[in-house]
Amino acid sequence: MQNVYGYVGTSETTSRSSSGGAFMAIAKAFFDEYGEKARALGVVFGEDLNVEYAVAETFDACRAFQGSKYVQSDATGTIDRVVNLLNEGFAVLFVGTPCVAAGVKKAVAARTLASERLWTVDLICHGTPDKRVWRDYLSWLEKRRGARPVEYSFRYKKVAWRGYPVYVKLSDGKEIVDTYEARTYVRAFLKGATMREACFRCPFKNLDRCGDLTIGDFWGAEASFDQDEAKRGVSLILENSEKGAAIIERMRRDAEVEGTRLQKIDDDVFMRRQDNLKRALPKPPQYDAFWDAYKKDGFDAAVRRAGFFTWKGRLRARGIWLLKKVGLYSALKK
Ligand SMILES: Cc1cc2nc3c(=O)[nH]c(=O)nc-3n(C[C@H](O)[C@H](O)[C@H](O)COP(=O)(O)OP(=O)(O)OC[C@H]3O[C@@H](n4cnc5c(N)ncnc54)[C@H](O)[C@@H]3O)c2cc1C
Repeated sequence: MQNVYGYVGTSETTSRSSSGGAFMAIAKAFFDEYGEKARALGVVFGEDLNVEYAVAETFDACRAFQGSKYVQSDATGTIDRVVNLLNEGFAVLFVGTPCVAAGVKKAVAARTLASERLWTVDLICHGTPDKRVWRDYLSWLEKRRGARPVEYSFRYKKVAWRGYPVYVKLSDGKEIVDTYEARTYVRAFLKGATMREACFRCPFKNLDRCGDLTIGDFWGAEASFDQDEAKRGVSLILENSEKGAAIIERMRRDAEVEGTRLQKIDDDVFMRRQDNLKRALPKPPQYDAFWDAYKKDGFDAAVRRAGFFTWKGRLRARGIWLLKKVGLYSALKK
């Protein structure tokens, strides 16, 4: 098996990253190696929160990529961009879901002789929801709240690393932090109800990875990292090639200088809660109910009929909120 690492970056980085900020540490190592000849491709929230690929010309510009967007990204023109950059003499760091990373790698190998300057990082991936569902969810939220979502985080670290807390900023300046209503999209995502059919036949859910490095969440990191680090989020990194090993070596040196932590993991504790490295996602029981209602009557009908937005759920969430407010929640939970 390949070398495996856990990584926790500075608190400034982890506060904006989905797990321990491995992506930013990798980007730093890459930009330090290639300087002005480096370019990175990652996923941003573009106009109207459209999820799409963009090019970063500097390490600082990579900050726009931080934070997982649990949506199928718009990859139109991405392969051409990568090939053109390589042909212009740049080294390119590409980060994406394994299906897109594998496609880019294959196309690049067929279209240019410069593929040794392409570095790939693939993500451990639960699956990517259809982007129509994301757009319809945003419109649904806008209709319910009377203002447009303008900022979004799927992993709001001010609340926690675990549990996928959601943050939304609306066009009227109001902020929504992890309410039952705002979490409707993420509930359906975690159950797998909004995935594209192809995700249930995903051939990438194993340790045979396409990227030079693979990154994901290190669930179970408490065994190797202290409590404070585990609270901020820990990244899991799989080193899959010699290029990957060269980046890891640079990260090791950076970690010594920055006081961040890159820790080699010698047991398979990271696999215990990583079903997405073991098998394709099974189709959930709510799948057909969701899509039948979605195609006929739209997002609101779909989330209600598949049980992701119910009166019972709302009442329960309200009850938990009240108990937390009066300080009784933790005691009752015990
Ligand atoms: C759709 C999706 C499903 C995932 N499922 C799992 C899972 O089941 N288990 C697990 O351990 N980890 C999963 N991850 C990875 C996890 O959310 C973190 O990205 C990972 O832990 C790295 O965190 P970080 O702190 O290093 O990165 P961050 O600093 O948060 O950087 C995130 C990186 O992901 C890229 N990215 C963001 N959104 C997308 C997107 N929609 N498509 C392609 N690339 C994107 C960005 O370009 C950036 O490079 C998933 C990520 C995505 C996007």
